[in-house]
Amino acid sequence: MAADPQLIVPSSASFKLPAAHFIGNRAVNPHGGMTLPVIDPSNGEAFGEIARGDAEDIDFAVESARVALGGEWGMLSAVDRGRLLYRLSLAIGERIDEFTQIEARDCGKPLKQARADAIAVARYFEFYAGACDKLHGETLPYQAGFTVLTLREPLGVTAHIIPWNYPLQIFGRSVGAALAAGNACVVKPAEDACQSILRLAQLAAEVGFPAGAINIVTGLGSEAGAALVAHGGIDHISFTGSPDVGVLVSQAAAQNHVPVTLELGGKSPQILFADADFDLALPAIVNAIVQNAGQTCSAGSRLLIEKAVYEEVLEHLAGAFEKLRVGPAMMDLDCGPLIRQDQLQRVWDFLSDAHADGIAVMASGSIVPEAPENGFYQAPTLLRDVPWDHRLAQEEVFGPVLAAMPFDNEAHAIRLANSTRFGLVAGVWTENGARQMRMARAVRAGQVFVNNYGAGGGVELPFGGVKASGHGREKGFEALYGFTALKTIALRHGE
Ligand code: NAD
Repeated sequence: MAADPQLIVPSSASFKLPAAHFIGNRAVNPHGGMTLPVIDPSNGEAFGEIARGDAEDIDFAVESARVALGGEWGMLSAVDRGRLLYRLSLAIGERIDEFTQIEARDCGKPLKQARADAIAVARYFEFYAGACDKLHGETLPYQAGFTVLTLREPLGVTAHIIPWNYPLQIFGRSVGAALAAGNACVVKPAEDACQSILRLAQLAAEVGFPAGAINIVTGLGSEAGAALVAHGGIDHISFTGSPDVGVLVSQAAAQNHVPVTLELGGKSPQILFADADFDLALPAIVNAIVQNAGQTCSAGSRLLIEKAVYEEVLEHLAGAFEKLRVGPAMMDLDCGPLIRQDQLQRVWDFLSDAHADGIAVMASGSIVPEAPENGFYQAPTLLRDVPWDHRLAQEEVFGPVLAAMPFDNEAHAIRLANSTRFGLVAGVWTENGARQMRMARAVRAGQVFVNNYGAGGGVELPFGGVKASGHGREKGFEALYGFTALKTIALRHGE
């Protein structure tokens, strides 16, 4: 175990960018004494620092989680675990405004989006609180003279790597489920946005979570993140992030024979048939690409439109895009800034490729004059006639850019929908009931929404991908199974 770093006693009143990890219910200075700046995406300015964790900090956090499993946390009954999770849910619910402010500033989210995320994390803990004492095994019919049963046991120490786009929500779905199943967690939030997660961990301590149940180590992916996933003391990895890093995480997991859940990117299709209810569909289609400035793994970033209504739909959407306004998080407009300058540059590179290849911009929104010059703003952009195999139709832009293309018939729509390496979410818009089910069955994706689009779906709905979008499921009751090991006990007692 690493040498005991300097300990600082936190207090909720003084919670202000402590530039420290949160381990064993205490703020812990980084072992190496290094920090990273925290940048406000709305104006590009640094407003604090976070701890830059290293392998020693990860050692300390994993040890803290291991001790918790053998101590008070591991001894809690399922009912009492559930009560603790519920207390945390209530405490978050009483602080929605505080979490909204933290998340909006740190991620650049418009306030209404940050607020929705704060409400969602409270709901995750409420949902998983209720699930704690309902996670059970089975008895299995076997030979005479035997009784066979299965137990769902916690895996042990679970590692959680969280991206910057939805820190609160992803903490809720991943850590909430792992705790409900009785694991102790070590969390490495993204270096670009981890304030809300540090505050959540502190709040968990305040409502009574035993030391070591939740441990947070901040820092860079290549340092603290890589050290966590390669650590010999972890028993599961839950990774949400990019497909490339997902490969590295899988390799690290394989070295230690540790199960891994990967939630990676997407290029999710919205499939709009001529008979769809446009009043329902078009606002949802716009929202699914503008929400969180398009930085959503399940953003509906490809729009497949039946040829007969192609021009009409594009005209409608152009009108909607032109009304979209982009500005600082605190102005609470349709769209906030992107997270970083290099993310903005990445979106510009996609758009300049589109321009070079003759892809037409059908419409775009506007950046308000009040937006600070050094913020990372991109106007929502609607591109038309994007060839199905162009990188705009194949790769994740992770910005508010919608690629539209026409299709001839159902079979063509299915071919286009399934033509990328991803398979996370799809939206199908049609009033034809039989076609709804045919399409839902034919599209390869972890979630299919018919006449609605959940951009990740609700707390209760299992979520995850196929193909390069990842594997394993989070959210809903299903997630709990991934955080347990099934043990079979065969007892021979005679007849
Ligand atoms: P990223 O993969 O660079 O980073 C994600 C997290 O992984 C961060 O915490 C980062 O510090 C960490 N990380 C980076 N390198 C690491 C390494 N070598 N070892 C361990 N951890 C490491 O992705 P990002 O740019 O932060 O997030 C955007 C990507 O995440 C997009 O591709 C998006 O689609 C995806 N994403 C997916 C989901 C989902 O649920 N499927 C949700 C959000 C984001």
